Amino acid sequence: MAIIRLRPAFKDYIWGGTRLRDDFGKDCDFDKIAESWELSCHKDGDSVVADGEDVGLTLRQYIERHGRAVLGTNCERFEDFPILIKLIDAKDNLSVQVHPDNEYAQRVEGEYGKTEMWYVVDCDPGAELLYGFKHEISKEEFAERIGNNTLLEVTNNVPVHKGDVFFIEAGTLHAIGKGILIAEIQQNSNTTYRIYDYGRVGKDGKPRELHVEKAQDVTVLAPAKQYPDTPAEQHEGWTSKLLARCEYFTVYALDIGGMAELEADGTSFLDLLILEGEGTAGDTPFKKGDSIFVTAGTGRFAVNGKCKAVLTRIDKF
Ligand code: ZN
Repeated sequence: MAIIRLRPAFKDYIWGGTRLRDDFGKDCDFDKIAESWELSCHKDGDSVVADGEDVGLTLRQYIERHGRAVLGTNCERFEDFPILIKLIDAKDNLSVQVHPDNEYAQRVEGEYGKTEMWYVVDCDPGAELLYGFKHEISKEEFAERIGNNTLLEVTNNVPVHKGDVFFIEAGTLHAIGKGILIAEIQQNSNTTYRIYDYGRVGKDGKPRELHVEKAQDVTVLAPAKQYPDTPAEQHEGWTSKLLARCEYFTVYALDIGGMAELEADGTSFLDLLILEGEGTAGDTPFKKGDSIFVTAGTGRFAVNGKCKAVLTRIDKF
């Protein structure tokens, strides 16, 4: 029974900006902060307990110390920690990429596949991202367009606005465009197949690796499937809106005008990623940019303050 603030791991990929430090108060001295991994048990970047008696433990060590019951009964079906939550600041375009599903990823990469969801926290006017194809194409056309650099003629390029949500099932071709700041909720995986990188070079001056063959194996050559829009639920002084629910994660947007009563029952932990405002969750203070991990079985707790957040849990499937 605990409500814990986490410290993220940071990534300085070439396309990152400085907003996670400048606007979200992240304590990181990288030149560019592309990503902060706000809820992570991944070997490539662990979140760490930020205060209290377990301060300094990685989230993985915390779970080992307190037992898997802190994750809740709905997580028993996952061998490993199920999800990874990030903030992503795209100052420049990300590569055009695709992620494999569980079957392919576990066979070829030895980790989970990746279905993910984006919540647009903020964006520049006119910002766009790439989300699947405009229409279905054949495997031959896909190969030909990769070869002659005309792939972007058949991809679905979408103008984005603050608060937009994109559900990106494994196999969906996608790219975050420049000027977009996103909260990403995804399966616990770091497997990405890059298919087009705008001819850029990495920090070592060489083009970043492409994974065209694997991408051709896993890409669904059709329009992406968006999660259906669901109306917001009104509570006394706050609202919650379901953004997406799948076997890996269930995500809500919360808008709290002063006080909300939330509950972490025995079935799942919760993660609250604070996007605006400040307050307390139980006795734990938070501000914009913080990630709050609530162990399963904590029960009812109050969130006090004016804030916007995304709440993630694992449902039964
Ligand atoms: Zn992705």
